Amino acid sequence: MPEDAGVEGLQDVVARLGGDDVVAVLEEAAQIGLWAQQVQLVASGVIATRSSREAGHSGLAQSRGHRTPAALVQEITGTTKGEAARVVRVGTDLIAPAPVPDAAATANDTPGATPDVAWWEPLRGALHANTISSAAYDAIRRGLGEPPEAGEELSDEARTGFAESSREAWRQAAEQLVGEASERTVEELAQAARTVRDLLDPEGAEARFLARFEKRSFRRWKDADGLNRASLILDDEGAAFLDSVENAALRPRRGGPRFVDPEEKRDADALVEDARTNDQLSYDLFMDILRAGVLADPAAVYGTRQAGVRLVQVIDPMGSPFPVGHTEDGLTALPAAAIDQNICNTGTVDVTIDACGNPLDVGREQRLFTSRQRIGLAIRDGGCRWKGCDLPASYCEAHHIDEWDRDGGRTDIDRGILLCRFHHMNLHHGGWRITRSGKNDFELHPPGGKPPILLSPRAALTVAWAGIDPPPPRFRPTAA
Ligand SMILES: [Zn+2]
Ligand SMILES: [Zn+2]
Repeated sequence: MPEDAGVEGLQDVVARLGGDDVVAVLEEAAQIGLWAQQVQLVASGVIATRSSREAGHSGLAQSRGHRTPAALVQEITGTTKGEAARVVRVGTDLIAPAPVPDAAATANDTPGATPDVAWWEPLRGALHANTISSAAYDAIRRGLGEPPEAGEELSDEARTGFAESSREAWRQAAEQLVGEASERTVEELAQAARTVRDLLDPEGAEARFLARFEKRSFRRWKDADGLNRASLILDDEGAAFLDSVENAALRPRRGGPRFVDPEEKRDADALVEDARTNDQLSYDLFMDILRAGVLADPAAVYGTRQAGVRLVQVIDPMGSPFPVGHTEDGLTALPAAAIDQNICNTGTVDVTIDACGNPLDVGREQRLFTSRQRIGLAIRDGGCRWKGCDLPASYCEAHHIDEWDRDGGRTDIDRGILLCRFHHMNLHHGGWRITRSGKNDFELHPPGGKPPILLSPRAALTVAWAGIDPPPPRFRPTAA
């Protein structure tokens, strides 16, 4: 092929090639593309190391008028800001001096100890060998994050041991994800890496879950043109719930399963042909749900099961639950406290599996208050029973005061209590407990062994039941 052929000349040449040759040209071009990508990564990495914060204004990027190396890379390559930042991150890793000894191991300086290889070496190797793209590299590297550090209370020796074993676990996880990289989208790889990290580090998983929950927000404002805008930050469970609602409603648009039932098929076809954009459909769906929620009879809303989100928790053969579970859809990790909270509200199905995940036995649904029992709870509790909370029953979840395994809990109205979602979450994540002896008042036990708080029934209800003859003992007004 003539080397100086422009696009037009090239077109002429390629158009005259036989089938095999055209394919060969594309294969070669793809290889050159990969090679060019590597050159870009390395150059970006070198630019980044020469533009360190310490280098100040004499840094390579800074001396060319850019605040950061990514800004310089963005200007040259014409990509987005996020893409340029990624190229700089991956490039910096790629050119880092080979095996990086772990900081803790170096500090320890034990004679005879060999320097340990960085946990992400398998990732870097795959990037060098061009077996994963830089986007996949970045998704895995950032999804796995850094291995956790041992607590201060441990001895130096124990800390080194902890660092070594967690680094090894992270290295193996990186290797597995690299093996999967060619079959997965970058988004799915990122999610898989985050889930694997949470499974390997349950304590960190709980902390990260709560940190994301803390960031939850719904904000509305009117912009300068009078357009009503909103921004939403979802916590993990909220996102899983919305996913399930949206997926169910918009599935035909998203290439979901085809419908056999002619009526369902008509609806699905109508949705595919609907002139609205996906964003508009999501918006209309959201508003419909809000309206339905406001119009619904509280008893009806209260009696229904929560839509859609199913959680998976592994129980080992000894019967102990693993401290991190995940959503059935999307495999998002969730800490055990969040799982327990959902078990209270929606019950469980036991599935026995072998080590490859093959189901051997699917048991019955257990531990779910029936809708009649829920109505009973609503009548007795009249809303969230947490001290000082006034949220109505329709906003509440049913908490089982006995743990199913630990206490052989019964699905019994006397052992259930209504809590709003926030207080239910607070209880499970914050180490609170509610107990009750017989039909006496419930007791709320704060964490750290502080004295329990008596949860007396709502005064209005106590008075309302007082006319029952003879009054049942639990609702008899007390002198206090
Ligand atoms: Zn609960
Ligand atoms: Zn509450």
